[in-house]
Amino acid sequence: MRTEEARPVRLEDYRPPDWLVETVELDVSLDATASRVRATLTLRPSGSGAPAPLVLDGDALNLRSLKLDGVALPPDQFVATPDRLTIAQPPHRRLRLDIETVIDPSANTQLSGLYRSGAIYCTQCEAEGFRRITYFPDRPDVMAVYTTRIEAERTEAPVLLANGNPVASGEVPGTTRHFAVWHDPFPKPSYLFALVGGELACVEDRFRTMSEHEVTLRIYVEPGKERRCVYAMDSLKRAMRWDETAFGREYDLDIFMIVAVSNFNMGAMENKGLNIFNDKYILASPETATDADFERIEAIVAHEYFHNWTGNRITCRDWFQLCLKEGLTVFRDQEFSADQRSRAVERIADVRGLRTHQFVEDAGPLAHPVRPVVYREINNFYTATVYEKGAEVVRMLKVLLGPGHFRKGMDLYFSRHDGEAATVEQFVQCFADIAGANLTQFMLWYSQAGTPEVVATGSYDAGAKTFRLDLAQSIPATPGQPSKAPMVIPLAVGLVGRDGHELPLKSIDGGTIERGVLTLTKPTESFLFAGVAQPPVASLNRGFSAPIKLSANLSADDLRFLAAHDADPFNRWQALQTLATRLLVDNTAAFQAGRAARTDPGLLDAFHVTLNDGRLEPAFVALALTLPGEADIAREIGRDVDPDAVFEARTALRGVLGEHLAGPLFDQYRRLSESGPYRPDAASAGRRALRNTCLDLMVATRRGEAISVAARQYQAADNMTDRMAALSTLSLCDVPERAAALADFYTRYADDPLIVDKWLTLQATIPELATLDRVKSLTAHRAFSFANANRVRALIHAFALANQKEFNRADGGGYDFIVDTVLAIDPRNPQLAARLVSALKNWRMLEPMRRAHAQAALRRVAAAPSLSPDVDDIVQRALAQH
Ligand SMILES: [Zn+2]
Repeated sequence: MRTEEARPVRLEDYRPPDWLVETVELDVSLDATASRVRATLTLRPSGSGAPAPLVLDGDALNLRSLKLDGVALPPDQFVATPDRLTIAQPPHRRLRLDIETVIDPSANTQLSGLYRSGAIYCTQCEAEGFRRITYFPDRPDVMAVYTTRIEAERTEAPVLLANGNPVASGEVPGTTRHFAVWHDPFPKPSYLFALVGGELACVEDRFRTMSEHEVTLRIYVEPGKERRCVYAMDSLKRAMRWDETAFGREYDLDIFMIVAVSNFNMGAMENKGLNIFNDKYILASPETATDADFERIEAIVAHEYFHNWTGNRITCRDWFQLCLKEGLTVFRDQEFSADQRSRAVERIADVRGLRTHQFVEDAGPLAHPVRPVVYREINNFYTATVYEKGAEVVRMLKVLLGPGHFRKGMDLYFSRHDGEAATVEQFVQCFADIAGANLTQFMLWYSQAGTPEVVATGSYDAGAKTFRLDLAQSIPATPGQPSKAPMVIPLAVGLVGRDGHELPLKSIDGGTIERGVLTLTKPTESFLFAGVAQPPVASLNRGFSAPIKLSANLSADDLRFLAAHDADPFNRWQALQTLATRLLVDNTAAFQAGRAARTDPGLLDAFHVTLNDGRLEPAFVALALTLPGEADIAREIGRDVDPDAVFEARTALRGVLGEHLAGPLFDQYRRLSESGPYRPDAASAGRRALRNTCLDLMVATRRGEAISVAARQYQAADNMTDRMAALSTLSLCDVPERAAALADFYTRYADDPLIVDKWLTLQATIPELATLDRVKSLTAHRAFSFANANRVRALIHAFALANQKEFNRADGGGYDFIVDTVLAIDPRNPQLAARLVSALKNWRMLEPMRRAHAQAALRRVAAAPSLSPDVDDIVQRALAQH
């Protein structure tokens, strides 16, 4: 366990390193319990300043020997503890250190540093895992050139991989061991180091870059799973080509490798030339993966590949700048997916994700700026705010400056900072320089937490033929930030005429409004449009141009009109969501008060029109027919939330929708059935999505014939998408067909852990009282193991994050179960435990009884002895009073 350091760490305390590392030569001799690591570092003082002590980070290390310039260092000249190596008075010049440590990969249950995933040796060094391998200045602004020699028993680890290009390999004479040497010519921070050793099968392909450089592509998986890498390889090649066309970025080594492992704390890791993936995000075949899995594989393979430029070639100066690589790279992978699939559908899906995860985070006790200024445990800042809101901030730069200036700004960033560890200021400065713009106020997006709220009031003057839009912005208080300055909010707008056509946007002084974007910079501002011949309906924040909460004086008629006519597909979807949310919030209050729910025939008709509009993409219609989630409704209510009432309101509306549209839903369901083999492309996936959305609404009526249709689809499906869709809609009904299908599913797939994960998740997310006991008993099932992070996420995280109703049981049993689990896994895997306890982050918005249960649960964690810094940090912040 890590000993407590001088935390918290503050951005304002940043100082450049005293010592830089030029080269690292690692010689790692793999052994299950005693791997020997010899590190040879060439170091030099960073500046001309005064001589400084040499302090290297460690974590649970055991020093065997230390030499300076080839001579053993006398014990009185250094201090080595498990977490630090200090040479108080090193010579003030270039020097060489030889450090030998021994580590135990089998005992490493934190999955940080060098560990074993099953029989495979692998590493995870971001953020601070390299210090668990050897003593090192383990900070991203120390970039060095690495050469790695790995040695192992040939039978145990026939495949030996590290970053860079392969330079040598062979037998170790007189032994049963062999070795491989890899050299990475690009200077990189230690968090991007990786090595892998094990028995792995490989799928190989080739890619010719835009300057005709031939690159070998390899994906390594457990033997026997090669056939399930086809889609990941195809995604990789498309991502490599796209980065050349969209950003002019070319791959730079002779080989690019991905290794899929089955026990991993995150999704994937972008180590230079050697990405390591959770196998969940590599392995796919029609029989084993859903359309959503295929889509995620495509996005994550692309994301990690794109890091080669945004993260690796240009890295972060310090961990406060994490959004510099993550927000930017999420933006890039979202753009890639939008180009590969449907832009409108991708945008809606991204915004749904942002609202569900980031808006909630921004409204609770764990709210923090996109670039935090203080942390106690950096592992807790791999958050929706840093990633997803960070991506929105980059997107706003593009909206504000236009695509031309944006691309030029990116080009400048790549040429100006290649090979450097950069800051957010340096990134934004590139755009300011290209566009001649002052982006000082824009920087508030990086420093102010909280979701800005914008109130828009439109009014039409028939006499003057003008339309006036009054805008007011405010940003709620967040921890440590009681009052906020006004932000720069780019608002893409349109005025839609009564005939459904777009009206020209002219400002009162005769100018046109560039790209239809208004820029709000003050607390309140008014915009006047001239020459508006008829009363328009305003379509605001088109494409979700700014990550804000918008409320506008639009009537139900206006919203239905936009749902049918808006040229902006995002706002067509949004109009239906807004209408449905208004109804669901009202009906939640009605359920709580024992009143009858109201119906909204206008909304039902709007859904009907959308369902039957043959010009719309099926994937879009599927999203449009999906009601706001329980988390969305709870967020809209904001305080004293009763998750049971929210669930009742939503379930009732799904039933009403299913009854009202029974005929058209069944027609679409029949019309969309496909013959021919499964294909994972976006159009085919969209048809399946709409068909399965129709099925889900049909089953929401609980009618016997609909349940039979779902049971038949489950049995007849020739692909995992349709089988899972039928099973998950059946799982919402306590009928014999459900039990039969769940039992059948396990029997079919018992030997495939990734599919069994789906089975675990499904049972954890059933919204009924029996679920908590079911989840508890599943922890004893032979398919489950607390030692595997994927299993814990599939069963227990899914229960806490995706089952609002049962996690938030009125008796507090859901919270108690999560807390018991957190305390049990914290000693083994603190990162996993910290993510799980974060599920309680919204406790303050609950009604008083649940709030009291949740607070007691958090206090029980806080009171536990010897918590990891990771979990302690989350509970302290979650409980703090602001
Ligand atoms: Zn990333």
